[in-house]
Amino acid sequence: MKKMSRRKFIPAAASAAAGAVLTMGNIRKTHAQAKRHSAENPGLPLPKKICPVIDCHLHSPSTSTGKLQQWYPVQTTTEDFVHYLNRCGVDYGVAASVRGVEGKEKNDFIQANRESLALAAQYPNRFIPACLVNGRFPQESVRELIEHRTKHGVFWVGELAGYMTDFTYDTPGFKKIMDTIAEYDMICHIHARTEQIEQLVRDYRQVTFILPHFTPVKKRIFSRIAFVKENKNVYLDISGVSFSRMGILEYAVKEIGADRVLFGSDYTVNDPASVIVRVLNAELPTEIKKHVLFHNAKELIAKYDKAKKFTPFLR
Ligand SMILES: [Zn+2]
Repeated sequence: MKKMSRRKFIPAAASAAAGAVLTMGNIRKTHAQAKRHSAENPGLPLPKKICPVIDCHLHSPSTSTGKLQQWYPVQTTTEDFVHYLNRCGVDYGVAASVRGVEGKEKNDFIQANRESLALAAQYPNRFIPACLVNGRFPQESVRELIEHRTKHGVFWVGELAGYMTDFTYDTPGFKKIMDTIAEYDMICHIHARTEQIEQLVRDYRQVTFILPHFTPVKKRIFSRIAFVKENKNVYLDISGVSFSRMGILEYAVKEIGADRVLFGSDYTVNDPASVIVRVLNAELPTEIKKHVLFHNAKELIAKYDKAKKFTPFLR
């Protein structure tokens, strides 16, 4: 049988169910049918849930611009976002609006921060809002950090993705941002190559850094794991694609230890369920899987949530 890509498969499945012929003309209709189909169908049975799940790496759809990061959008609204997390068994998450993760203008990260606060307020006991900044706008970024930390109790910065929003981590402007993160005792979740982060990790030993992704290249995966192992103020978030390389998760836990490996998915870009299944199926003791899926993030959040604004529901 000719292989069909996922993007074609979803409308095709609904189309076949409805007895219709798939054409570009009726793709919108079949997409709506596919959504109904997914609402009715819980999907493949997942391995048995062993603990609550905290996803430390979420990008929520932008409510002000409608921006999404899905290469072919299938979940377009906040309701879709929450519904899919429910289907995957994600109980809690740290979320930043897509608008600030990829938007290059000053207003993008500022508005994104408001959207993330609104999401957390709309779904209490569910989401921890993250604050975004942009190194090209240090003054406004510092203002956002201070306001979010002191007024709203926000302690999570990122995921910062300078490569998407046109800034680098080696500028005087970014130094001002890092100084503020350190002074206000915040977490720095930062997408960077290992060599781009080495100096920052040394310069800001008091800051907890979270590095998302194993990285896609074999050689870099091993050097990243070695880097996290050596630097106790760094955590590894296993989102991305390389978590599915058999043995890599087990190797990371063996080298780094069970306490500094965090479950993250990068949803809405990537699928949370596939990462959860890899953790559940890993050749690791159940206790360690619980640390990766829940306890490590819970303890980290509890440590930084000085106002106890987000922690009570995690106890
Ligand atoms: Zn991301």
